[in-house]
Amino acid sequence: MICVLSGGTGTPKFLQGLKELTEEIAVIVNTAEDVWVSGNKICPDIDSVIYAMAGVIDESKWWGIKNDTFITHSRLRELGFDESMMIGDLDRATHIIRSELLRKGYSLTETTRSLKNRFGVKAEILPMCEEEVATIVLTKDGEMHFQEFWIKHKGEKEVLDVVFRGVEKAKATKDVLNALDKCKGVVIGPSNPITSILPILSVKGVRERLIDKKVIVISPILGNKPVSGPAAKLMKAKGYEVSPLGVAEVYKDFLNVLVVDEGDKGLVGFYEYEIVAFPTIMKGKDDAVKLAEFVVEFLI
Ligand code: GDP
Repeated sequence: MICVLSGGTGTPKFLQGLKELTEEIAVIVNTAEDVWVSGNKICPDIDSVIYAMAGVIDESKWWGIKNDTFITHSRLRELGFDESMMIGDLDRATHIIRSELLRKGYSLTETTRSLKNRFGVKAEILPMCEEEVATIVLTKDGEMHFQEFWIKHKGEKEVLDVVFRGVEKAKATKDVLNALDKCKGVVIGPSNPITSILPILSVKGVRERLIDKKVIVISPILGNKPVSGPAAKLMKAKGYEVSPLGVAEVYKDFLNVLVVDEGDKGLVGFYEYEIVAFPTIMKGKDDAVKLAEFVVEFLI
C-alpha cells in the first residue's frame, strides 16, 4: 500500500494517475481549510480528492463537480443571503450528507469513508485528524481564515505569517497511523507545502512516522513559481525560498527523493536526498499516469 499526503489541485491530479496503477492507496488529507458554510461542512481538499478519484471533478477549476449548476447559490443571493463560497448544486449534496452524518454523531473519518464509497472510490481517503484545525493567515490588515484570504481577498493581502489554530491539540487518527505504519512508502504530492502539507505534518504522530519511511516529494514549484495558487507568497512568509530546493527544505527531516520538473533538471543529483527530474505538469490523465509510473518505481 502507498500513502499519499494531499491538499487540493496538484495531488488530486496526481491521484488520477496513481489510481490507474494500483488500488492500494491511502490518501491522508489536509482538513485545516475546512469551513462551515450555509449550515454545511465543506472539506475542500477531501472533496477534491474524492471527486478526482471518482473522475467527476471539474477539471477547468480543480474543485467542484463537472457540469454542476449554481441554482441554489444564485437563489440564496436573490433572497439576500450572500454565501461566502460558490457552491454548486451537486457539490452541495455531498456537503449535506457529510453534515447530516456529523450531526448524527459519526466521525469525520466515518463520514468521509461513507462519502467516498457512495462515489465508488476504492482508495482509503483519510482526514488527517478529527479535531478542528484552522489555517489562519496573518496579514498587515489583521488575521483571517485562509478561505477568506484566498476567496474574498483573492490572495492579494501581504502575508506576515501562517498559523494552524488548534493543531497543538490535534492527533493523527488511528486509521492514519495504521496506514503510515503499514505502507511501503509515502508520496507527498505536488500540493501547497505551507497550507496543505504542513498542517498534516503538524498533527501529532505523523512526522515521526515519516522518518523511517521512504518519502518521495513531487515539487509543486517549477523554477521559482507554483503551477497555480498562493504557494509562493506563503512559502516566502514562512521564510522558505520559492524553488524546488525551498520545497525540499520544508521536508528535509525525512525526504528521500525530490521529483522536480524537467525544466529544473539542472538540480538533479545527490544531496542529503536524491533529486530526479521528470515532466511534472499534468495537463490530463495521461501525464498523471506517466508521473505516477515514474514515482512508483522509487517505492519498489
Ligand atoms: P493551493 O491551491 O496553493 O491552496 O494549494 P493546493 O494544495 O490545493 O495545491 C496547489 C499546488 O498544486 C500549487 O502549489 C501548484 O503549484 C500545484 N500544482 C497544480 N497543478 C500541478 C501540476 O500539474 N504539476 C505540479 N507539479 N504541481 C501542480
